[in-house]
Formats: sequence, C-alpha cells, structure tokens
Amino acid sequence: MQALPIYSGATTQEIPALGKLIVLTGPSGVGKGTLMQKLLERHPELYYSVSATTRSPRPGEVDGKNYYFISRNQFEKLVAQGEFLEWAEFAGNYYGTPRTEVLQKINSGKLVILEIELEGARQIRHSYPNALSIFILPPTFSELENRIRGRGQDSEEAISRRLTRAQEEIQAAEEFDIQIVNDNFETALHQVEAVIFAEAES
Ligand code: ADP
Ligand code: 5GP
Repeated sequence: MQALPIYSGATTQEIPALGKLIVLTGPSGVGKGTLMQKLLERHPELYYSVSATTRSPRPGEVDGKNYYFISRNQFEKLVAQGEFLEWAEFAGNYYGTPRTEVLQKINSGKLVILEIELEGARQIRHSYPNALSIFILPPTFSELENRIRGRGQDSEEAISRRLTRAQEEIQAAEEFDIQIVNDNFETALHQVEAVIFAEAES
C-alpha cells in the first residue's frame, strides 16, 4: 500500500479562503472518471484528490494514483483518527477523501477537485458550504446502464447494486449547485470547464 499522508490536527475552520474546493458527483457509470481524466490532462494546475478505498483494484488501476487501496480494518482506523474529510460506504466498500492532502493543497492556493459519490458530496456540502458542487446526470437511465455494462469491469452483482443506488442518487441532483448532463462528452466537458474556471476567477 502507498503511504497515506497523516492528518496532523487541522480543523474545519482551517478551510481556507485562498484555494477552492470543487465536488464532482453523480451516479456510478455517468462518466465522472472520464471527465476528470480529461480535465486533468487539459488543466494540469488542477489538483485531483486521490481517495482511499477498500475496493479491490480493477485491472490497470495503480495504488496511490487511482486510489489508495487499503483494508477495511485500516480504513476504520483512519476514520476513528479523523483522517477523512468525508467518507461513505458505496456498493459494499468504503471510500474516503484524505483530509491532510486536500487541506494542504487548498491552503497553498490550489483548485482541488473531489470526485465522490452522493453521501460524501452531501457531507462536504454540509461541512464546507462554500465548496462548488457539480452533479453529472446521464441522458437516460438505460444509457447509464449501457455505460456501466460497457465499462466491463464490474460483476453482475456490483452492476445491480450500482444501478439501484444510481436511481436514488439521481433524485438528489437538485441538492447541488450545478447539474450537467453528460450526453455528448465534449459538450459536457466544456460545461464543466466553464463552471470550474468561472468559479476559480470569482
Ligand atoms: P464513473 O466514473 O462516473 O463511474 P466512467 O468515467 O467510468 O464513469 O464512465 C463509464 C463508461 O461510460 C466508460 O466506459 C466511459 O468511457 C463511458 N462514457 C463516459 N462519458 C460518455 C459519454 N458522454 N458518452 C458515451 N460514453 C461515455
Ligand atoms: P468506483 O468503485 O467506480 O471507483 O467508485 C464508486 C463510487 O465511489 C463513485 O461514485 C466514486 O465517485 C465514489 N468515490 C470515489 N472516491 C470517493 C471518496 O473518497 N469518497 C466518496 N464518498 N466517494 C468516492
């Protein structure tokens, strides 16, 4: 496992004025990861927060780059130590945002983006109401299912859990600042960029 930087006692008051925090959320399979990847290629100045998870790596995923892959036991210890800015259980696994890295980057003036599921996004909205939150919607539910299946990386059980959860998640879209439909990929990407960089300049 890659070393996860350790939280040294920052509190919510230390969320800074200098940098900005952006949350990208939406159901599994909607294209959040693909949008993030393109955003980072096009804007290397953005900082993407690498999450910790108890899920097993998918083929090609790299520890410390895609996620910090850790055990449930390790994850629960980090929760107890207050190491996560937010965390949630999703489709049978834990996922969480390491607090230290994110606070350090925001404090140094970086624009930080979290790509997280609904419960975590709600926690961030609650703890950091100044964060900008973007909800990515699929054009239709059947297209979402096609994308999850087309990705070909989840078991039938995982697909069915993700689809059930997706129905609940989509209902929550209006809780977030901005909703963007990822139908045509380039259009959605430009919309996300427009919102993020308008925010950065504000
Ligand atoms: P998420 O990170 O939200 O779970 P992914 O980024 O893994 O979703 O995308 C799920 C699948 O959908 C991938 O195979 C991706 O290539 C595909 N995809 C993403 N955006 C679009 C789009 N606008 N049109 C068609 N397919 C897309
Ligand atoms: P996947 O297993 O497909 O990589 O991710 C499943 C879901 O977990 C996705 O919706 C993804 O955005 C979300 N996720 C990834 N990292 C985090 C995190 O740190 N916190 C929370 N709450 N969700 C996360």
